[in-house]
Amino acid sequence: MAELGTSGLMIDRVTKRFGEQTAVDALSLTINPGEFVALLGPSGCGKTTMLRMLAGFETINDGTIQLANRTLASADTHMPPEQRNMAMVFQSYALWPHMSVADNVGYPVKLRGLRGAAYHQKVQQALALVELDAYADRMPQALSGGQRQRVALARCLVSDPSVVLLDEPLANLDRHLRATMEHSFRDFHRRTGATLVYVTHDQTEAMALADKIAVMKAGKLIQWGAPETLYRQPRTTWVAGFIGQGSQLKVAAGHPGKRLEGAALMRGLNAIASERTQSVLVRPEHIQISAAPASSAAHTDKQLAAQVESVIFRGERYELTLRLPSGETLLAYHPSAPDLGSQVAVDLHQGWCLEPDQ
Ligand code: ATP
Repeated sequence: MAELGTSGLMIDRVTKRFGEQTAVDALSLTINPGEFVALLGPSGCGKTTMLRMLAGFETINDGTIQLANRTLASADTHMPPEQRNMAMVFQSYALWPHMSVADNVGYPVKLRGLRGAAYHQKVQQALALVELDAYADRMPQALSGGQRQRVALARCLVSDPSVVLLDEPLANLDRHLRATMEHSFRDFHRRTGATLVYVTHDQTEAMALADKIAVMKAGKLIQWGAPETLYRQPRTTWVAGFIGQGSQLKVAAGHPGKRLEGAALMRGLNAIASERTQSVLVRPEHIQISAAPASSAAHTDKQLAAQVESVIFRGERYELTLRLPSGETLLAYHPSAPDLGSQVAVDLHQGWCLEPDQ
């Protein structure tokens, strides 16, 4: 078995059933010490259940969970949460309203009997990590949502956990604050070097924050990789639809897990419908648009003809929906807005071939 260091986590074929329902299905992941990992997937896919099994709030039916080669859980072992050296931050910050920021943060170590100068130093250090040293004497009601979430983070850090578990910690914040907090989380991770496991259903949040993402669906791990890999090389049609923007077309070329370059992609698209059985993902940044040649509205070897079906202004660019003669649609970006209904010529530079969804 791999050596995991002090805070590496090994999740090996972990399964959780609630009655007839399998919430987490033989899920395996190896998380290296200090890694920032996101568990990402739609509502009900088992993310929170997996996090609760890591924390020790749920038992497991099958498989094993190990932290630094200590078994935390298996079908017949269950180490209690307080012995796991993990801390969990929830969506609702759960701060005590009658205690100051410093008292909230210090509570876990006070419970363990720490007092005096050592106590104050610990609290001060934890507050400094989330850049709230100046707020130690405030009451939670006098803080913004983002500041409250940082107090919750400081409270979990004060006990020096090996692993910090975060369950949709930004879900209650508005969009602007979420963006600010993404920076805080990244800084926080850099400064502490803690292993973080972060549950979210928001793919942009997962991509912005995590070193690695576990994409889950119906209790199963569908793909595990760096954000860039998931974006550039999604395994299945479902992952391609879930992560980032793009269009899926049918082509008579390529193999799952391989890239198709422009000319091969164009030839594959121009084949007759019955031969076009391979799904290919085309990201908007791999599409170039120009005015349609007046002579032709049909496909050529190099370009496709398409009709502009919708135009949305997104600030730095326009987002276009284009209708191809096959009836398929294509999402493209463009610096200016073509007329609705006009014909444009489309160059596709590359596509990524996908496995069908399981
Ligand atoms: P969300 O993003 O909506 O929080 P999730 O991916 O975190 O969803 P879980 O909360 O882990 O999903 O739930 C996975 C499945 O297990 C769901 O179908 C849920 O109904 C079920 N489930 C979770 N907890 C229990 C429980 N205590 N008893 C019975 N079923 C449960």
